[in-house]
Amino acid sequence: MFDQYINYFDDLKSLYARMDQMYDESADAYGFHCSGCSDNCCLTRFFHHTLIEFLYLRKGFADLDELVREEVRHQALEVNEKVLFAEDAGQTPRVMCPLNREGLCLLYQYRPMICRLHGIPHEFVHPVKSKIIGPGCHEFEAQCNQKQYMPFDRTPFYRQMAMLESQLKKETGVAEKIKKTVAQMLVKDLEEIL
Ligand code: SF4
Repeated sequence: MFDQYINYFDDLKSLYARMDQMYDESADAYGFHCSGCSDNCCLTRFFHHTLIEFLYLRKGFADLDELVREEVRHQALEVNEKVLFAEDAGQTPRVMCPLNREGLCLLYQYRPMICRLHGIPHEFVHPVKSKIIGPGCHEFEAQCNQKQYMPFDRTPFYRQMAMLESQLKKETGVAEKIKKTVAQMLVKDLEEIL
């Protein structure tokens, strides 16, 4: 079912490659190295907002071995339950992403933009609020807090992602706004959206 999106996936892969390159260059310039930490970003409840990343992640998921896929699906359901439970208790959910296996991402090549860009201080131009500055993660602060900010502008990435998203949504006719965690994306029935 994913073959029809191949051109979008190719564009997305190129965009991801540019993000990864800029991230690596910036991390090297700071001397920042992420090798896992207690404040693991895979424990943070990030929402992802694009259909294109949703479909690309599911393409990677569909290519996993069936047994692994079942295990991950089971875990994703558990994660979703734990998150709801924490929310009901008025707590901020801190539940490990179902794709994290001993610190490694099972779908590393397919991981969404926020998983790629998290950690390095950055800026972007918000369409309404103008320029927004975002801090590095806790580990970045621990390793590099004495270093001067080096501009890392996410705006071109966000713009290109928005362009791809708008083309895909137009072509598919999907109007639904996407706002999902990785665990939610893994268990969602795609036929309900497409
Ligand atoms: S998709 Fe991969 S990198 Fe992103 S939170 Fe999950 S395990 Fe971590």
